Parts: sequence; C-alpha cells; structure tokens
Amino acid sequence: MHDLYRRAILGATGGAALTAAAQAQGTAGPVRGDEGAPIAGPTNPARQAEEPFTTAPPKTDHGSMPNLKWSFSDSHMRLEEGGWARETTVRELPASKEIAGVNMRLKANAAREMHWHKEGEWSYVLKGRARITAVDQDGRTFIADVGEGDLWYSPSGIPHSIQGLQSDIDGVEFLLVFDDGSFSEDSTFLITDWLAHTPRDVLAKNFGVAEEALAHLPEKERYIFPAAAPASFDRDQMVGAGPVPQSFAYRMLAQEPQRMPGGTVRITDTRNFPVSQTIAAALVELEPGAMRELHWHPNGSEWQYYLEGEGRMTVFGSEGKARTFDYRAGDVGYVPFAMGHYIENTGPSTMRFLEVFRSSRFASLSLNQWMKLTPPELVRSHLNITQGVLDGLPVEQHPVVPARRQT
Ligand code: MN
Ligand code: MN
Repeated sequence: MHDLYRRAILGATGGAALTAAAQAQGTAGPVRGDEGAPIAGPTNPARQAEEPFTTAPPKTDHGSMPNLKWSFSDSHMRLEEGGWARETTVRELPASKEIAGVNMRLKANAAREMHWHKEGEWSYVLKGRARITAVDQDGRTFIADVGEGDLWYSPSGIPHSIQGLQSDIDGVEFLLVFDDGSFSEDSTFLITDWLAHTPRDVLAKNFGVAEEALAHLPEKERYIFPAAAPASFDRDQMVGAGPVPQSFAYRMLAQEPQRMPGGTVRITDTRNFPVSQTIAAALVELEPGAMRELHWHPNGSEWQYYLEGEGRMTVFGSEGKARTFDYRAGDVGYVPFAMGHYIENTGPSTMRFLEVFRSSRFASLSLNQWMKLTPPELVRSHLNITQGVLDGLPVEQHPVVPARRQT
C-alpha cells in the first residue's frame, strides 16, 4: 500500500530515489495528486524537507495522533567546562511518559560528578571511553571501563560516577535512558550539592574531622567538571564487601546478533543483562530498503534512538488513526503502548537504531506470525487474499524483512 502510494504519487522506483522524490514532494508542500495546494504564506523549507510526509501525508495517514518525534538537535544544551548534556523528556516529547533520554559528552578526565537518582539509568556508549563506578547498599563495589556499544545500568537510588577516558574523541559520548519520562538530568542528587547545603559543624561531626579540613568544599554543585586523571584500572578497584553480584555493565555490540536477510537484531534484557530490571532493549541494523516488520509490543511503549542513517515509521493507533514520521541519526522516536508500527530504512546506507522499553523483558508480536498461526480460512475471509499470500509467511518471527527485488 505504502509502496503503491509512493509509486503512484511520486513516480519513483528505487529506495534512494524514493527518498529524494519524497523530500522534493515535502518541499513542494501539501500537494497529493489533485488534493491540496502549495503553501502561499511563510514556510520553513529546511524543516519541511526533513518531514516530507508530515506536510504531504500518504493517503493511509489519518486522524489525530500525538507527536512521536523529537530531535536532540532541538534540545537545550547544558554547557559546562569539560562537557555538555541535553535531554529529551516528557517536557520535550509529551507522549513519552514512561521513558526519558539524555545525551552527554565528557572530555577525557572530565567527571559527571558522584550522584544518585530515583530512576533506574540505562546507558549506551556512542563513542569514546569512560570509567564508571558504583557502590551498593551492602558496601559492594563496581567499576568498569566501557567503550562504543557497551551498556551500563545503575539501579534506582544506587550512587555512581562517570569519567571520560583518553580516546580517539578525547573522552566519551553516551546516551542515557531513564525509566520515567518526567526525569530531569538537573534534579539528580549530587554529592557537592548536598554538602553545600548541610551545616559545616554537622559535616565535621559526620566525618570526624575539624571544620578547617572542610574549608575548600565547593559552594555549589559541580555537575560536570575537569577532574584529575584516573589511576590505573587495577588501582581504582575498591574492595569493600566484594564486587556487586550482578555486573552493572554489558557489551551489547559484542553480543552475537540474530542474522536474517535484510539485517540483524541484538536483544538485551534480564535474560542476558540481569541487573537491568527496568529497561529492555533491541539494537536493530537494517540494510538499505529493509524493514523492521509490521509488529507491536504487548508490554509497554517503545522509545527509539536513531544511531545511524535515516528511516520512516508509520504508527497505527486504532480508530483509523495512523501517522508517518521520518527519522535520522540523533532523533528520538516513540510508539505508545501496543500501537502497530514498522520502521523502514529509506536511506542509501545501513540504518541502526535502538528500541528501548520500560520492562525487564523484550517482547514483540509479529503480524506475519499471527496471520501464519491463525486458521488460514479465517484469515483469508478477513482479508480477501489467496492461500499463496499466507504460504510465503514464516512460522517463526523474522523481525527484519529485506528490500523487495524490483521487477
Ligand atoms: Mn546517573
Ligand atoms: Mn517496535
């Protein structure tokens, strides 16, 4: 249907050509065959070209759907000496009540200061290297050096730190995902902030030292700041009551993916990363023209982060509602609970994105599998299709379907 629409309206045939034609269509304005008319008033052509199907939606889009896209490029940057942070929360993307995201950069040796928060924190390292530490309620310690494609998880209330290490990008950049859309990176519990707001004589009594020993405590929070270079990994191993029983880090990109025609999928949840009790994720790679099949999730809303390339998603919201969005690297997408969707690579190169859920387990329902495993006469009488259509569907789930060969 989607393909038919594009061919009929845009007269294009190939994947990359379709994108260019669709963008030209978006730039042309709200015109769809005989429907619509060019915008005569003010326009923002650059913005319109990024979202061709918002300005000129396919005929299959219909009804009122919430906005399901936010670009980190539109998020306020908090600039600090040594790095920056920007966030996508329910304030930026109102539909995303379950999950918030933060994009952070730390130069080598710069620290995201020692802190904790109410929310569980899941992180994916985008570039560079970092050292992370934590201490749990039983005095057990955690430390790891992480790099591109590695995860960490800090459970709710557990104090931790992040420090940039020497790397090819001079430090580290990462994505943080929190299990509450209302999270704010500005409202974490910081060690400096706490000490700055506790009477000095109380601090002296607590630490068992003279007040003079605390004369140079910071007067306000440091948040991100240039710190001393870390010691060697071995020297930074603190013993305490031994290591935390479940590692707070996991090498997601190193995990062997499910491979299928059109792409790969890596699923990381409590089955292989047991400490991550509140966040489950999939890392999906799509070849040009390939598609994450039509599916939905029975256990929560989906928060997406686009790592590489460009893609298109249509979300089906029941009651005839559907809306199509275009995404590219650095964008956030969202699928409200249980809504049907697909994600198609519309660019000329490999597309990679993360699907993130507030759940201990990844779970996905496949339209193809549902149709294949329902009595065929029943399916055929719903859809007016031949048995030949059903014969080609797989019994097992294939999360990715390849580009169709052009005839
Ligand atoms: Mn944190
Ligand atoms: Mn999905």
